[in-house]
Amino acid sequence: MIKINENYLKLQASYLFAKIGKRATAHQAAHPDQEIIKLGIGDVTRPLPDACIQAFHKAVDEMAHGKSFRGYGPEQGYDFLREKIAQTDFKDRGADIEADEIFVSDGAKCDTGNIQEILSTDIRVAIPDPVYPVYVDTNVMAGRTGACHKGRYDQIIYLEGSRENGFIPDLPEQPVDLIYLCYPNNPTGATITKEQLKVWVDYALENKALILYDAAYESFIRDAALPRSIYEVEGARQVAIEFRSFSKTAGFTGTRCAFTVVPKECRAYTSDGAEHSLYDLWYRRHTTKFNSVSYPVQRAAEAIYSPEGQSQSRALIEYYLKNAALILEEVGSMGFDCIGGQNSPYIWVDCKMGSWEFFDLLLNKAGVVCTPGEGFGQCGRGFIRISAFNDFENVQKAMQRMADVLG
Ligand code: PLP
Repeated sequence: MIKINENYLKLQASYLFAKIGKRATAHQAAHPDQEIIKLGIGDVTRPLPDACIQAFHKAVDEMAHGKSFRGYGPEQGYDFLREKIAQTDFKDRGADIEADEIFVSDGAKCDTGNIQEILSTDIRVAIPDPVYPVYVDTNVMAGRTGACHKGRYDQIIYLEGSRENGFIPDLPEQPVDLIYLCYPNNPTGATITKEQLKVWVDYALENKALILYDAAYESFIRDAALPRSIYEVEGARQVAIEFRSFSKTAGFTGTRCAFTVVPKECRAYTSDGAEHSLYDLWYRRHTTKFNSVSYPVQRAAEAIYSPEGQSQSRALIEYYLKNAALILEEVGSMGFDCIGGQNSPYIWVDCKMGSWEFFDLLLNKAGVVCTPGEGFGQCGRGFIRISAFNDFENVQKAMQRMADVLG
């Protein structure tokens, strides 16, 4: 008899976006002439930078000729891309990362989910609340949790975010082995300072723990004092794996290219305490189960690092940051406290009422869709997330409508 992985039965159905879609569709049916503005999604809206498009086309043409055709590439990614990543994203910022510590992949979503396969199932996992749901669900699938009660899984240690701690959780009271951190944060838009991040790195060093650091939104950081990589913090090479993505950096959500950094010193232990290299384990896993990203996509990603690619992708981010600044200013002047929006595409709004109540108010009275915070965890109750990924004109229109209703 073939048996299923029963851990999948513990998973809670992801009602959030389905419920949002259903309410928006019902509203549209009742008001067919109203244009609904969606500020709920985390997907980009602007096209790829021209430098990427040109490199993409050129690489596709190379595939048409015997001499320049490429078959399977290296599983970890082509050196032409890994070397540029190591130099520009890390060494130039004082973070000591070598090209062979970069593993190119087709997404930070898959990587943050897949990485825990090289870790034991009986570790204690600490996950922030509110959170990008992938970290929780993939640990449920792996069997690291018990059942779910009222939205929380037994055995997960929830690191609670609040207005008081600025959504930078305190260290856990009980010992933990694996810690997920994401800055700039989805959904709250909060950023972390080097000093705050060092507290976590020191904790991991002292407790032989591992930090999984999701920096998918690092390119939105404009404050030069904020760390763009955890490896800017001393000691992190031993205790942290970092995830990056070109999805938001250069509009690659539909093109698919990302990378994971596993430093050679990064270690974990067998049950009898012997030290092992996580680099070796991830190298084995990646080369066994993955055949890397297509050649044209890696060439398109490489083009982000050319002078034109750098200025074009920066302009893309500036575009969304301008949206974020407008949202922050307008929603603030309506009397709401906000987090994020300055070094992040997300604005986390304390809506002074239930998340869904506020969602319905915005939809019904202003025709604007946002994301209720409680969809990201219990600590998101009473908040909504507004995303800056949209056209500026739509954001302006949405802010005007919100001001008319709430201002
Ligand atoms: N990590 C975070 C925090 C995200 O918000 C997202 C996407 O929204 C991802 C990872 C996924 O990135 P990718 O498109 O590279 O899979």
